[in-house]
Amino acid sequence: MSLRNISITIYTLVVSLLLQACGSDSPPADAGAVAAESQQFYEWKLATTWPKNFPALGRAPEIFAEKVEAMSNGRMKIRVYGDGELVPALEVFNAVSAGTAEIGHGAAYYWKGKVPEAQFFTVLPFGMNGHEMQSWILYGGGLELWEELYVPFNLIPVPAGTTGVQMGGWFNKEINSKEDFQGLKMRIPGLAQDILSRLGGVPVNMPGSELFTALQTGVLDATEWVGPYNDQAFGLYEIAEYYYYPGWHEPGAVMEFLFNKEQFEALPFYLQEVLRTAAAAAGVEMTNEFTARNALSLSDLEQTHGITPRQFPDDLLQELNTIAQEEIDKLANLSSAAAEIHASYREFEQSIRAYQDVSEEAYVRARNL
Ligand code: CA
Repeated sequence: MSLRNISITIYTLVVSLLLQACGSDSPPADAGAVAAESQQFYEWKLATTWPKNFPALGRAPEIFAEKVEAMSNGRMKIRVYGDGELVPALEVFNAVSAGTAEIGHGAAYYWKGKVPEAQFFTVLPFGMNGHEMQSWILYGGGLELWEELYVPFNLIPVPAGTTGVQMGGWFNKEINSKEDFQGLKMRIPGLAQDILSRLGGVPVNMPGSELFTALQTGVLDATEWVGPYNDQAFGLYEIAEYYYYPGWHEPGAVMEFLFNKEQFEALPFYLQEVLRTAAAAAGVEMTNEFTARNALSLSDLEQTHGITPRQFPDDLLQELNTIAQEEIDKLANLSSAAAEIHASYREFEQSIRAYQDVSEEAYVRARNL
């Protein structure tokens, strides 16, 4: 064997060992393949459920795309499409599943009509907050269950930060008791739709871009959206006077990147890691953007636009919580997957609450003494 052949053999062996160490499923057969792979450029499409460049929610996929291009040294470019530019918001799941777009950005509870169990991975009414949810997903076994749930759809989910506790929504009248929900046409996502139905209300699944007009024209009597920052961006304060808190229905929604599984797994391993790392980083940026901007927007809504947030009455919240637990149990009984995800969620929730009692909650009590 010539010296050149020996060196190629050693190089191939080292590359192969490195790729195995990285956990690659499909290491290239030889050094030539590695070289060819490193020369390849990728142009991918990302379909979002938000208006293009919408604050925080819509900025997250843009930040993601910028990071991917920089971290891949320009080997991968991602074009971001807002709601309706490539597909309508609520078609993103199907579009990424079919490969019309390689990536999607939204929230898992939007797909409840197709995959009801997905709702567990965004948020549960009166359930874990955003910080706790992310801990469950990343360190409590949630992500593995989420990935398994999406395998039949040729999709890989990646968590992407949280909105934090949301607001309770904008109403065209005062809400004093559960009777005030009767006949109320309200845009609200996820399991809260079933709770609203139980109260005699009419839940509507509608992307954010349609909310202002729907509320203005009376198609809706009420809508929740996110928090002060995003609600202000849609101008909801111009058409609804009553702004309620807390967002019992969304105590910290976790956002979602969707990847077409087949196309993702065909990528070189380093690009897969670039995509995962950029998604995580964009999620951290979005989470912090929400906290900082929500505070500013709340102040602006109060001082510039004369909005005085109102708190839902305690007895109403208790009744909503009772119904919520019944609806969550119904969801848990829907399938064996739902039962398994629910059990994992509850086990983690129980342990984190015991810890939160002596950490976050104890501290908040202490600083308010
Ligand atoms: Ca919301």
